[in-house]
Amino acid sequence: MLLRHKADRRTIAYMVVTTAVFILQWTVLDWNPFVWFFYLFLSVAVTVIAHNHNHLPIFKKKGLNNIVDYWLTIFYGFPAFAWVPTHNMNHHNLNNKEGDYTLTYRLTEHNHLLMILFYPTMSSYYQQKPIRDFLKNLWAKNRRGFWLCTFQYVALAVWIVGGLILDWQKAILYIIIPQQLGLFAVLVFNYVQHVHADEESAIDHSRNFVGFLNVMLFNNGYHTVHHDKAGSHWSKAPELHAAVTHKINPVLIERSFWWYITRNYFLGAFIPKMRTKSLRLARIAREQQAASALKSQASAMQSDAESSQADASQTHYGAPAV
Ligand SMILES: [Zn+2]
Repeated sequence: MLLRHKADRRTIAYMVVTTAVFILQWTVLDWNPFVWFFYLFLSVAVTVIAHNHNHLPIFKKKGLNNIVDYWLTIFYGFPAFAWVPTHNMNHHNLNNKEGDYTLTYRLTEHNHLLMILFYPTMSSYYQQKPIRDFLKNLWAKNRRGFWLCTFQYVALAVWIVGGLILDWQKAILYIIIPQQLGLFAVLVFNYVQHVHADEESAIDHSRNFVGFLNVMLFNNGYHTVHHDKAGSHWSKAPELHAAVTHKINPVLIERSFWWYITRNYFLGAFIPKMRTKSLRLARIAREQQAASALKSQASAMQSDAESSQADASQTHYGAPAV
């Protein structure tokens, strides 16, 4: 058995179907909207696979995993290794706290349509630095690793430029748009999984999506347990989630991704009660309240102490004792 987990037969099946549909569209089929939309869905699924593969490589053999990295890179639209410095080493350590390059509240505490549309661009911009630093570090310490990662950029460039030279219209339809949509979608997933959750909470740090899309996208919606046990395989997420569901704030468990999007970003624009409430801001308000209560308690104790000191310094003649 070459796979580390049997469940990754499904991962391989998705990749094979993605590749086959790409070849079919490029060679035999005329543009067919149904096939194309199916292919766009598969392109989004590829980004989830790239995420999972970077946490737990699919194969037991390193060489095969390196090949998968290249396979993923050309369909994902960005070098697959980039997940390591931005996601595995940064986002999973900080979990949307200050210093996380994918911070959801960098610009505003609001969770509205403009922000979700702008977030992918902003997040991609801030993720470039850790990628550069990671490559610099590899150059200094692991030259082979450096070239493996750098050739992912080369493979991607050859794939896109080669496609454009062969047939620029097909390249836009079957390479560039699906790649860009996938990259946009995966950053949107990151946004909705953390925005208005409480990054300091032991359990309420993530939003979960537990409906149909979650099933189709390798249990990627069980985000609380993914953060708590990032080393566990995606196929184990349902049972891990079931074990902690009762502890998670119910507002952080969404049945449907599309209903969440419709409710919060479209209906919420007109109906305030449809919008999410920030658990992070609620926690900050509680902390500020507790701090000011503590401060007023301390100043009350200090003035009590001062007045009793003043009392003690009075003599029965009414003059201060020396
Ligand atoms: Zn992850």
